Amino acid sequence: MARSALHFYDTLSRRKVEFRPLTPGEVRMYHCGPTVYQRPHIGNYRAFLFADLLRRVLERWGYRVTQVMNLTDVGHLLGDGDDGEDRMEKQARKEGTDPWKIVERVAEQFFADLKALGVQPAHHYPRATAHVPEMLEMIRELIKRGHAYQVGENVYFDVHSFSEYGKLSGNRVADLEAGARLEVNPEKRHPADFALWKSDPRHVMKWASEFGEHGFPGWHIECSAMSKKYLGESFDIHTGGEDNVFPHHECEIAQSECAHGKPFVSLWMHTQFLQVDGGKMSKSLGNVYLLDDVATHGFTPRDFRFFALRAHYRGSLNFTWEALKGAAESRRSLTDLRGRLRAAAGPALPDPEPPSESADFDEALADDLNASAAVAALFALRSRFLRETWWSPNQAAAALSFLAEADAIFGLFDPDGAGALDDARVEALLAERLAARAARDFARSDAVRDELTRAGIVLEDTPEGQKWHRS
Ligand code: AMP
Ligand code: ZN
Repeated sequence: MARSALHFYDTLSRRKVEFRPLTPGEVRMYHCGPTVYQRPHIGNYRAFLFADLLRRVLERWGYRVTQVMNLTDVGHLLGDGDDGEDRMEKQARKEGTDPWKIVERVAEQFFADLKALGVQPAHHYPRATAHVPEMLEMIRELIKRGHAYQVGENVYFDVHSFSEYGKLSGNRVADLEAGARLEVNPEKRHPADFALWKSDPRHVMKWASEFGEHGFPGWHIECSAMSKKYLGESFDIHTGGEDNVFPHHECEIAQSECAHGKPFVSLWMHTQFLQVDGGKMSKSLGNVYLLDDVATHGFTPRDFRFFALRAHYRGSLNFTWEALKGAAESRRSLTDLRGRLRAAAGPALPDPEPPSESADFDEALADDLNASAAVAALFALRSRFLRETWWSPNQAAAALSFLAEADAIFGLFDPDGAGALDDARVEALLAERLAARAARDFARSDAVRDELTRAGIVLEDTPEGQKWHRS
């Protein structure tokens, strides 16, 4: 059965639109990635998991996808404006190290987290600091076309030169300038102008150019320049969290459309922020959780993945440990379903007739990635299987293959072999269990036994001592 066309909500036109790529069969998309001054928190991963879901759905619909996610390693100032301190530089000073070292550390943590979350690697992860020449080139072009101007060693974008400024966020120049939120910077022609290039001799990350010796790029120009390099002047989809709409994406549109004289992005998609305990995640509340905290509480990264993805990306989502537990339990019941289907299934047929829930699953995804409805289709399948005790091995095999397809979208199941222990580790745990028993620490010996059981190790206490085999 043919799948319905994909429809997505477009932040710019403020409605759901049928998805039509610029080049038939191909999708080029860009995601605003992490500012790598600190390991990303679970809120960031809501945005990145959404990007992964989007890609997997596009691929299920047969598109060839090119996916780019940048790493912001310079120029993202506190407050997202032009006058705060650079987040990288501030963190480096705090740690008494240099920002380059922090980039390396955080990038490594970021990629390890993505892997643990089962995120398919993007095709490119460009770093801003590796693309300064491309940014300078775009800035020169904007000056040449009359959209940017230099004052001293700084360069600003002239928002009055682009009548469409504000079309994404609804923040029109006149309203912005009437608002009291803008700081008065005497260098700027208009209060709403924003920096493309800034000078600061104290900066550790700095580049010499015709504008001066100690320059560094503005955050917005980075994404305009990197998306152009990897995806071209016009491409299909750009995503980010809802806070990116303004100023970041509004400014990206202004820069790219003024530099190239053509539309920048066809479709803008934004994830709503993950909340924690009903509010914002913040250091002062001590609720900025990392993936390690998820593990400390006894959950796996896949539990968090399922928690984040089963909610609609534009809907509110509140993280609590109780809610994560609910997601982990749901995920387990789907793993249980897979086990039951495996037991009931005959050999896989070449082209099995999929269960009716498969059409509902696709219908839900086609409707602006309605993940909760798609997951509901999986639970409908589960209920039907448990109710209808007469399934043939063929039916079970078909359901199993549909479940594998759902896994390819949501990354539901722990990868095969996850949690597996090698022989040496098993022997070490057995020795630990013996020692614990000798010390009459039965809590510990039971805990070790549980760990082994979870990893599929069957233990026997025989007169000759402990024996084990894999289940
Ligand atoms: P940053 O590291 O601040 O540049 O953010 C990286 C990405 O994570 C951006 O697309 C943000 O919009 C997104 N983001 C930040 N906080 C959250 C949150 N609590 N929930 C969802 N996305 C977020
Ligand atoms: Zn960006």
